[in-house]
Amino acid sequence: MNDIVTREELCRSIELVPQVDIGHFPTPLEECPRLSEALGGPRIFMKREDCSGLAFGGNKVRQLTFTIGEAVHRGADTIVHGAASQSNHCRQTAAAAARLGLKCYLRLSRGQKSTLQGNLLLDYLAGADVELVDPPLGPELDAIKYATAEQLEAAGLKPYVIAHPRSTALAAVAFAWCVTEIHAQQQELGIEADWIYAGSTGGTQAGLILGSKALGTKLKPVGITPIRWDDRVERIRNAANDAAKILNLNLQIADDEVENSDDYVGEAYGVVSSECIDALKLAARTEGIFLDPVYTSKAFAGLIDHVRKGKITSDETVIFLHTGGTPALFAYNEELFATDKRGSLIELWD
Ligand SMILES: *Cc1c(COP(=O)(O)O)cnc(C)c1O
Repeated sequence: MNDIVTREELCRSIELVPQVDIGHFPTPLEECPRLSEALGGPRIFMKREDCSGLAFGGNKVRQLTFTIGEAVHRGADTIVHGAASQSNHCRQTAAAAARLGLKCYLRLSRGQKSTLQGNLLLDYLAGADVELVDPPLGPELDAIKYATAEQLEAAGLKPYVIAHPRSTALAAVAFAWCVTEIHAQQQELGIEADWIYAGSTGGTQAGLILGSKALGTKLKPVGITPIRWDDRVERIRNAANDAAKILNLNLQIADDEVENSDDYVGEAYGVVSSECIDALKLAARTEGIFLDPVYTSKAFAGLIDHVRKGKITSDETVIFLHTGGTPALFAYNEELFATDKRGSLIELWD
């Protein structure tokens, strides 16, 4: 058990999984020297999944390469998905479907940010059939997705539903692939990072763990969750092990290999915290890199705190996986800035 494979071997296993070509890969791995300086220490590189090409990018483009790959492989002509109204996953799904000539049905939980902005705006623009529904994320929303698929099937379409756990396992395959890119890019840059941080509660972290372990790298993946899910370690572990099976890797991931912190959620999922606003501003003002208000700013707030607390030391190298989500910024304008009566800008949280 726990066989190490070469990068070429891992790439070959990944190539055997059905895929569609929808993104710009490899995504860049860039150094952020001004950010390192501001934090007084570690070398920081960003893996720019926000530059994955399709529809303003994001980590779901890489994941959908395999989920929609499976859908097309099974002969589907329609994709059904559903999540929060500002879901990045759904926006990237709508765009991928448009690009591939597939129909797309989104059932979105109204929640608190269902204004016609950010991701929701883009869902409509990409021509998805969008319905805003009342139930929150969870079994009720899943039931609505499956009921929609049944109706579409009755109408003669061939729907494919994107849903956990299958989509989480394929997402882990996608991020094992991302590790092969990082492995090659590190060789080119002559670096060997100690840590890789990502905002994740699922397939992204699972793939980082699986890929790093399969290649025998020293990279330690740390996930920072934006949502309090008690079963997240189990979700990540299961997704990693399911992906190992899909890729025919003789590997087993245990719970104690899953490091995922919920210390930076703040009040709740999708609600900004002062730490995440600080992280947003810092990345924008030192590197011109925009994080997002829901995932990456909270994950980066975790990275900053881990530097301050000495978990990441100043002589180490850390990769931050920028998972995208930036269109959601436009739905959060009022959380960032306001103007006073004379029209002068007020920086909230200052
Ligand atoms: C979906 C998403 C994540 C989390 O990805 P998982 O694979 O579910 O862990 C992180 N960041 C952004 C911007 C996302 O849209």
